Amino acid sequence: VTERTRIRRSPDRAVHERGVLDAILDAGFVAHVGIVDSGQPYVLPTAYARRGDQVILHGSAASRLFRRLAQGVPACVTVTLLDGFVYARSAFESSMNYRSVMLLGEAVTLNGDDELDALRVLSDHLLPGRWADVRHPSHKERAATLTVAVPIVEWSVKVRAGDPEDLAEDLANPPWSALWAGALPIEQHFGTPVPDQHVAAFQQVPSVIAHRTMP
Ligand SMILES: Cc1cc2nc3c(=O)[nH]c(=O)nc-3n(C[C@H](O)[C@H](O)[C@H](O)COP(=O)(O)OP(=O)(O)OC[C@H]3O[C@@H](n4cnc5c(N)ncnc54)[C@H](O)[C@@H]3O)c2cc1C
Repeated sequence: VTERTRIRRSPDRAVHERGVLDAILDAGFVAHVGIVDSGQPYVLPTAYARRGDQVILHGSAASRLFRRLAQGVPACVTVTLLDGFVYARSAFESSMNYRSVMLLGEAVTLNGDDELDALRVLSDHLLPGRWADVRHPSHKERAATLTVAVPIVEWSVKVRAGDPEDLAEDLANPPWSALWAGALPIEQHFGTPVPDQHVAAFQQVPSVIAHRTMP
């Protein structure tokens, strides 16, 4: 924990176990990456994967975000998993259950075999089992791609779980004490695979896609 990543607001929701950080990163697919360009903050959603102590990001070599990341500008990466809505007895205490990560650092650009390995890790995270089957990126495609790694060094994790935190007076006094309250969990699952127009009628959906489950 650094001064920059010490959770001040609701510090009881701070989690310091590295395993929890890894579990959140491994369960998510989209990171929001913030940089400052000419004094203006920009926060953009992008795919990511964790590789050990790094968060791997890749994007177009023409992307401002990726060009700035490759230059090593200070970056802020967040990942949020929304676990549910919390229905309290007051509007003020109504809330969300979540697991969220914030990572500060400077990205390093990956090249050569290291970059290809990072692209494999990204593919394995987003599309498990697919890397073995797909055509790997060509020289031209590699040249059009910037792949960077943000080191997992300076980070924070904040988790909210469980019941509403209603005021004692709302729990004790009607009409609010009679109001239903609790949490409505959010569960994500995959739908039915939809073949594209080039798939032959006899082709089966690969098992890794047909039987894929949420992490
Ligand atoms: C899905 C979701 C919904 C939320 N909705 C609200 C809302 O409506 N209103 C609201 O006030 N807050 C909300 N929060 C909490 C919000 O993210 C901040 O934690 C809170 O606003 C306190 O901000 P702060 O600048 O005072 O944080 P501080 O505690 O001053 O932040 C200091 C450091 O703590 C760490 N930190 C703070 N928040 C987080 C976080 N969420 N995840 C990881 N690290 C963190 C960072 O390293 C940060 O630099 C929500 C969070 C999530 C994930």
